[in-house]
Amino acid sequence: MADKWVYLFEEGHGGMRDLLGGKGANLAEMTKAALPVPPGFTVTTEACNRYYQEGRTLFDALKAQIEEALGKLEEKTGKRFGDPNHPLLVSVRSGAPVSMPGMMDTILNLGLNDATVEGLARLTNDARFAYDCYRRFIQMFGDVVLGVPHYLFEQVIDDVKAQRGVRHDPELGADDWRAVIARYKAIVQRHTGQPFPQDVKAQLFAAVRAVFDSWNNQRAIVYRKLHNIPDHLGTAVNVQMMVFGNMGNDSGTGVAFTRDPNTGEKRLYGEYLTNAQGEDVVAGIRTPQPIETLREAMPAVYEQFVAICERLERHYKDMQDIEFTVERGTLYILQTRSGKRTAQAAVKIAVDLVKEGILTREEALLRVDPDQLHQLLHRRIDPSAPRDVLAKGLPASPGAATGRVVFDADEAEAWAKRGERVILVRPETTPEDIHGIVAAQGVLTSRGGMTSHAAVVARGMGKPCVCGCEALKIDLRARMFAVGERVVREGEVITIDGATGEVLAGEVPLVDPVLSPEFHELLAWADAVRRLAVRANADTPDDAAKARAFGAEGIGLCRTEHMFMAPDRVPVVQEMILAETREEREAALQKLLPMQQGDFYGILKAMEGLPVTIRLLDPPLHEFLPNLEELLVEVTKLRGDPQADPERLAEKEALLAKVRKLHEFNPMLGHRGCRLGLVFPEIYEMQVEAIFRAAAQLVREGVDVRPEVMIPLVGHVNELARLRKLVDEVAQRVMAETGTSVAYTVGTMIEVPRAALTADEIAREADFFSFGTNDLTQMTFAFSRDDAEGKFLPHYLESGILPDNPFITLDERGVGKLIAMGVAEGRKTRPNLKAGICGEHGGEKRSIDFCHRVGLDYVSCSPYRVPLARLAAAQAQLRHGSGFDNLSENR
Ligand code: ADP
Ligand code: MG
Ligand code: MG
Repeated sequence: MADKWVYLFEEGHGGMRDLLGGKGANLAEMTKAALPVPPGFTVTTEACNRYYQEGRTLFDALKAQIEEALGKLEEKTGKRFGDPNHPLLVSVRSGAPVSMPGMMDTILNLGLNDATVEGLARLTNDARFAYDCYRRFIQMFGDVVLGVPHYLFEQVIDDVKAQRGVRHDPELGADDWRAVIARYKAIVQRHTGQPFPQDVKAQLFAAVRAVFDSWNNQRAIVYRKLHNIPDHLGTAVNVQMMVFGNMGNDSGTGVAFTRDPNTGEKRLYGEYLTNAQGEDVVAGIRTPQPIETLREAMPAVYEQFVAICERLERHYKDMQDIEFTVERGTLYILQTRSGKRTAQAAVKIAVDLVKEGILTREEALLRVDPDQLHQLLHRRIDPSAPRDVLAKGLPASPGAATGRVVFDADEAEAWAKRGERVILVRPETTPEDIHGIVAAQGVLTSRGGMTSHAAVVARGMGKPCVCGCEALKIDLRARMFAVGERVVREGEVITIDGATGEVLAGEVPLVDPVLSPEFHELLAWADAVRRLAVRANADTPDDAAKARAFGAEGIGLCRTEHMFMAPDRVPVVQEMILAETREEREAALQKLLPMQQGDFYGILKAMEGLPVTIRLLDPPLHEFLPNLEELLVEVTKLRGDPQADPERLAEKEALLAKVRKLHEFNPMLGHRGCRLGLVFPEIYEMQVEAIFRAAAQLVREGVDVRPEVMIPLVGHVNELARLRKLVDEVAQRVMAETGTSVAYTVGTMIEVPRAALTADEIAREADFFSFGTNDLTQMTFAFSRDDAEGKFLPHYLESGILPDNPFITLDERGVGKLIAMGVAEGRKTRPNLKAGICGEHGGEKRSIDFCHRVGLDYVSCSPYRVPLARLAAAQAQLRHGSGFDNLSENR
């Protein structure tokens, strides 16, 4: 109904959130269910939008409908708005379609003026109560509608209490409040140049306007941006008859959750305040009592409340957060909504509701946010511990860690070897710091965003990380950092909370993650539902075992370069790179062979019976050599030093020459991936030999191994054809030599746009595709990730040029189109082509939903994200059915 701007509570229902807002829709729903809700009406969100279109005026039709609804409210209640003999008082409450807690204040007791307050006093025979209501009203209206600073009012009360020598508001009498009111009115007059409005209709219209205006106050705009709430929704306004919790000791007000929002335990959890009005509980003016006090004080009311809680929970099929008021022994329900809860509670409640027959398993699976599930896997700070917060950065990788501060990666490693727990503190981290991150409990950086190197690596390892903590002034030389006046030196203990971004002084007790039976139960349900398989990205047997424990069904990406970077191997790797001839290089490779074979043995064994995708060497060789600039400095020094050992100088000069030779202008597009394997086939031959020797050894031991050899960075089918031949030849040779047979496949990463575009050709040579969406995103956007995130991407995101960071959430329109094309074209050539994703997107819920729709066979993500991915994959199945044909809706 286009021209209906106002709905009585009995005219609406719970399904009308968009129009009536969450609060209004629920008030309507409860009214329908005959719960004791004070009568009222809701001004729609459409009216709010129209109000803005009309240049922020309450248009006539709206005013007329408000007056009409008010008339009906008067009939129903037998009271009249502005009538001193039977004054109707109302609350004016905001309520957007999406909950925006604390964004807009509620106004209570509207309809009071100098005349109606006397009527209220007579009717209730309680002048103290009446004046208390009036002063509250002036205070709230003054603050919210007239813009009078809150503290001005607070000062008056403090003054009066001091004069009278009392500590608590309820100890003030009628005359005290009368005095307060007089001073309040003077404040309003002084501040606005006008007397406090006595016309009750003018009060109401002004309050409605104030609620509408609040939709666009700075706080609300920022909140919406932060939570991705669209600006066009608008807010509704609820006008509701007042009921009074401040009418004496048989009155009160409270808030209760139907279950414990921290643990999920089934018990009423809440607070109650005797002789008080709503805002007192929230404002913390008095300490509320636990809800049990209501049971003792008014058992019948308590029983009624418990029964209503149960009804509401069954009705909404979820834990509810309920606001209520008792007026002289009569219970009123003022609000119900789904209660906010911790991750632990979310899982328990969803599973319990299934057991209680309230939810189906499918509904329960859709109830838990995969990100919340993820939080449960990390250690966290004991919530009851005191916190001495030094600074706050970005919450880059969840979990908490305590340790001694160290300022470089080598130190981190050395300290850790001595058995110390350390936190690695750096301005930022680079790939050279990996060993330090491995050794540390957590990482803290002063620069870089949520997707900086430190953040990405720490998340991948499941380590807590706080980054971009700009308040830290790090002095690497002096081995200390300062935050304002405070200084923390190397070796001192700090704690970081990667969930909040806080950096705390000293050791703070941590609690271990407890994976409850409900956690495992929910994931077992997810496994029964999902179509996508979930694998993990893991480079070591330890990680592989961890992934398996979290439910991974294979390894989607095992990177071999990390095996090259182990400190004891770097010299051999350098020897291999510096070799002048093929023979020299092969000699070095022969030394690496047993090391790699050992690595593959461990990882294949850990994943017995499951597929393991091993990617052959990918990064450019210079990553294994010293940094050009540092080397240059060193050589220059040696040259200028007459005492320098000439042999050492020659060695360094040769190294410098090699580094110069390998230096690339644009390494991202340089000599890496399969281009290495084509120019230096002996490197890939060694790796393949190591894989198959390890596999053969395991086969002989009776272990079921399933290696999948993956060639990186292919852009042309000829690249893959040659390398596939190389793999097959080496594999055959090793099998013949060892007299074993190993079942294996050969496939490629699709991470170069040309590979996706020519997937039909490439599939001729590939048993499987694995979409490497990190590189594919870089190359599709032509963004180098490090440069983008350090320079222009934040601007793109803030100004809305890009809706999401494409390195976190897969860009469906662009990169996704290449994936869809790659899968479809590839399967034209090879219908049983297996396809998966191994970029970081494989562990992000929205991207996983896309992977399901596009018909991939599996996603692969860091071990710690495996549970999240299992749930997200199940949710995708529940939302879209089996996938494939659902892609069109997104194109
Ligand atoms: P919020 O969205 O911030 O919770 P509400 O609109 O729910 O704001 O109002 C806050 C509190 O004001 C409520 O919890 C309730 O205690 C009180 N309140 C609101 N409307 C009424 C009413 N009609 N009668 C009595 N108290 C009310
Ligand atoms: Mg509320
Ligand atoms: Mg890549």
